[in-house]
Amino acid sequence: MNWRNLIILSLSILVSNCTYSQQEPKNKNMEDQKKSDVYSRTDTSKVNLTNEEWKGRLSPEVYNIAREKGTEYAFTGKYWNSKEAGTYYCAACGNPLFVSDAKFESSCGWPSFFEPITKGSVIYAPDNTHGMHRTEVMCGRCKAHLGHVFDDGPPPTGLRYCINSVILDFDKAKEADKNFKGKH
Ligand SMILES: [Zn+2]
Repeated sequence: MNWRNLIILSLSILVSNCTYSQQEPKNKNMEDQKKSDVYSRTDTSKVNLTNEEWKGRLSPEVYNIAREKGTEYAFTGKYWNSKEAGTYYCAACGNPLFVSDAKFESSCGWPSFFEPITKGSVIYAPDNTHGMHRTEVMCGRCKAHLGHVFDDGPPPTGLRYCINSVILDFDKAKEADKNFKGKH
Protein backbone atom coordinates (compact mmCIF):
# COMPACT_ATOMS: atom_id res chain seq x y z
CA MET A 1 0.00 0.00 0.00
CA ASN A 2 1.43 3.40 -0.92
CA TRP A 3 1.25 6.56 1.17
CA ARG A 4 -1.58 8.05 -0.82
CA ASN A 5 -3.86 5.08 -0.22
CA LEU A 6 -2.93 5.03 3.43
CA ILE A 7 -3.90 8.69 3.84
CA ILE A 8 -7.22 8.14 2.07
CA LEU A 9 -7.90 5.14 4.29
CA SER A 10 -7.06 7.10 7.46
CA LEU A 11 -9.27 9.96 6.37
CA SER A 12 -12.23 7.72 5.67
CA ILE A 13 -11.89 6.11 9.10
CA LEU A 14 -11.75 9.56 10.65
CA VAL A 15 -14.84 10.70 8.76
CA SER A 16 -16.85 7.62 9.69
CA ASN A 17 -15.89 8.07 13.35
CA CYS A 18 -17.02 11.69 13.23
CA THR A 19 -20.34 10.76 11.69
CA TYR A 20 -20.91 8.20 14.41
CA SER A 21 -20.05 10.56 17.27
CA GLN A 22 -22.32 13.23 15.81
CA GLN A 23 -25.28 10.89 15.70
CA GLU A 24 -24.99 9.77 19.28
CA PRO A 25 -25.81 13.08 21.08
CA LYS A 26 -28.50 13.88 18.52
CA ASN A 27 -30.43 10.73 19.41
CA LYS A 28 -29.85 11.41 23.07
CA ASN A 29 -31.40 14.86 22.81
CA MET A 30 -34.41 13.50 21.01
CA GLU A 31 -34.82 10.98 23.81
CA ASP A 32 -34.56 13.74 26.43
CA GLN A 33 -37.16 15.88 24.71
CA LYS A 34 -39.79 13.23 25.31
CA LYS A 35 -39.30 13.42 29.08
CA SER A 36 -41.17 15.97 31.12
CA ASP A 37 -39.60 18.27 33.71
CA VAL A 38 -40.79 16.00 36.54
CA TYR A 39 -39.15 12.91 34.99
CA SER A 40 -36.34 11.58 37.18
CA ARG A 41 -35.04 8.08 37.81
CA THR A 42 -33.39 9.11 41.09
CA ASP A 43 -35.69 11.71 42.67
CA THR A 44 -38.04 9.86 45.02
CA SER A 45 -40.12 12.88 46.09
CA LYS A 46 -43.81 12.53 45.23
CA VAL A 47 -45.20 14.23 42.15
CA ASN A 48 -48.62 15.83 42.62
CA LEU A 49 -49.91 17.48 39.47
CA THR A 50 -53.43 18.16 38.25
CA ASN A 51 -54.63 16.45 35.08
CA GLU A 52 -54.36 19.79 33.32
CA GLU A 53 -50.70 20.03 34.34
CA TRP A 54 -50.06 16.46 33.22
CA LYS A 55 -51.66 17.11 29.85
CA GLY A 56 -48.89 19.51 28.89
CA ARG A 57 -46.21 17.05 29.98
CA LEU A 58 -47.32 13.70 28.53
CA SER A 59 -48.02 12.42 25.05
CA PRO A 60 -51.74 11.73 24.42
CA GLU A 61 -51.08 7.97 24.58
CA VAL A 62 -49.30 8.12 27.94
CA TYR A 63 -51.87 10.61 29.30
CA ASN A 64 -54.73 8.29 28.37
CA ILE A 65 -53.27 5.39 30.35
CA ALA A 66 -51.72 7.38 33.21
CA ARG A 67 -54.49 9.86 34.00
CA GLU A 68 -57.62 8.45 32.36
CA LYS A 69 -56.90 4.83 33.37
CA GLY A 70 -57.01 3.67 29.77
CA THR A 71 -55.94 0.22 28.60
CA GLU A 72 -53.90 -0.48 25.50
CA TYR A 73 -55.11 -3.25 23.19
CA ALA A 74 -53.71 -6.66 24.09
CA PHE A 75 -50.69 -7.79 22.05
CA THR A 76 -50.12 -4.28 20.68
CA GLY A 77 -47.73 -2.79 23.25
CA LYS A 78 -44.01 -2.77 22.64
CA TYR A 79 -43.06 -4.78 25.74
CA TRP A 80 -45.65 -7.56 26.11
CA ASN A 81 -43.34 -10.08 24.45
CA SER A 82 -39.97 -8.50 25.29
CA LYS A 83 -37.33 -10.63 26.98
CA GLU A 84 -34.57 -8.02 27.11
CA ALA A 85 -32.67 -7.57 30.36
CA GLY A 86 -33.14 -4.20 31.98
CA THR A 87 -35.31 -1.95 34.11
CA TYR A 88 -38.83 -0.65 33.48
CA TYR A 89 -39.46 2.93 34.67
CA CYS A 90 -42.68 4.92 34.92
CA ALA A 91 -43.02 6.74 31.57
CA ALA A 92 -44.67 9.70 33.32
CA CYS A 93 -42.23 10.35 36.17
CA GLY A 94 -39.21 8.00 35.81
CA ASN A 95 -39.86 6.03 39.01
CA PRO A 96 -38.21 2.55 38.76
CA LEU A 97 -41.08 0.04 38.72
CA PHE A 98 -40.05 -3.44 37.55
CA VAL A 99 -36.94 -5.38 36.51
CA SER A 100 -36.83 -7.87 33.66
CA ASP A 101 -35.92 -10.66 36.13
CA ALA A 102 -39.46 -10.41 37.51
CA LYS A 103 -41.07 -10.48 34.05
CA PHE A 104 -42.64 -13.71 32.88
CA GLU A 105 -44.28 -15.00 29.74
CA SER A 106 -47.97 -14.47 30.01
CA SER A 107 -50.55 -15.16 27.36
CA CYS A 108 -52.61 -12.11 28.30
CA GLY A 109 -50.97 -9.73 25.82
CA TRP A 110 -49.57 -7.21 28.30
CA PRO A 111 -46.18 -7.11 30.03
CA SER A 112 -46.52 -9.25 33.16
CA PHE A 113 -44.38 -9.21 36.29
CA PHE A 114 -44.57 -11.19 39.53
CA GLU A 115 -43.29 -8.35 41.72
CA PRO A 116 -42.37 -4.65 41.63
CA ILE A 117 -38.78 -3.47 42.27
CA THR A 118 -39.63 -2.48 45.84
CA LYS A 119 -42.83 -2.53 47.89
CA GLY A 120 -43.13 1.25 47.58
CA SER A 121 -42.62 1.33 43.80
CA VAL A 122 -46.34 0.90 43.27
CA ILE A 123 -49.53 1.62 45.20
CA TYR A 124 -52.89 -0.11 45.02
CA ALA A 125 -56.58 0.78 44.95
CA PRO A 126 -59.75 -1.30 44.62
CA ASP A 127 -61.26 -1.03 41.13
CA ASN A 128 -64.88 -2.14 40.80
CA THR A 129 -65.51 -0.71 37.34
CA HIS A 130 -66.68 -2.76 34.32
CA GLY A 131 -68.57 -5.16 36.65
CA MET A 132 -65.32 -6.65 37.99
CA HIS A 133 -63.54 -6.58 41.32
CA ARG A 134 -59.94 -5.84 40.47
CA THR A 135 -56.97 -4.24 42.16
CA GLU A 136 -55.58 -1.25 40.34
CA VAL A 137 -51.79 -0.70 40.33
CA MET A 138 -50.47 2.85 40.26
CA CYS A 139 -47.02 4.41 40.26
CA GLY A 140 -45.84 4.97 43.84
CA ARG A 141 -44.35 8.35 42.93
CA CYS A 142 -46.85 10.06 40.60
CA LYS A 143 -49.96 7.87 40.92
CA ALA A 144 -50.07 7.17 37.19
CA HIS A 145 -52.38 4.26 36.37
CA LEU A 146 -50.20 1.30 35.36
CA GLY A 147 -52.58 -1.66 35.16
CA HIS A 148 -53.96 -4.29 37.55
CA VAL A 149 -52.61 -7.05 39.77
CA PHE A 150 -54.15 -10.55 39.84
CA ASP A 151 -53.47 -13.55 42.06
CA ASP A 152 -52.92 -16.05 39.25
CA GLY A 153 -49.20 -15.37 38.78
CA PRO A 154 -46.22 -17.73 39.07
CA PRO A 155 -44.00 -18.35 42.13
CA PRO A 156 -42.49 -16.92 44.20
CA THR A 157 -45.30 -14.39 44.75
CA GLY A 158 -48.24 -15.94 42.88
CA LEU A 159 -49.04 -12.45 41.63
CA ARG A 160 -49.44 -11.18 38.07
CA TYR A 161 -48.87 -7.47 37.61
CA CYS A 162 -50.53 -6.85 34.26
CA ILE A 163 -49.10 -3.54 33.05
CA ASN A 164 -49.65 -1.35 29.98
CA SER A 165 -46.53 -1.03 27.79
CA VAL A 166 -47.36 2.62 27.08
CA ILE A 167 -46.73 3.66 30.68
CA LEU A 168 -43.42 1.77 30.82
CA ASP A 169 -40.09 3.28 29.87
CA PHE A 170 -37.53 0.52 29.36
CA ASP A 171 -33.79 0.86 29.79
CA LYS A 172 -31.47 -2.02 28.91
CA ALA A 173 -29.30 -3.32 31.73
CA LYS A 174 -25.88 -1.73 31.46
CA GLU A 175 -23.23 -3.42 33.60
CA ALA A 176 -24.92 -6.70 34.42
CA ASP A 177 -25.71 -7.78 30.87
CA LYS A 178 -22.38 -7.01 29.24
CA ASN A 179 -21.33 -10.66 29.15
CA PHE A 180 -24.78 -11.70 28.10
CA LYS A 181 -24.74 -9.26 25.20
CA GLY A 182 -21.32 -10.52 24.10
CA LYS A 183 -22.82 -13.90 23.31
CA HIS A 184 -25.30 -12.48 20.81
ZN1 LIG B 1 -44.79 7.69 37.93
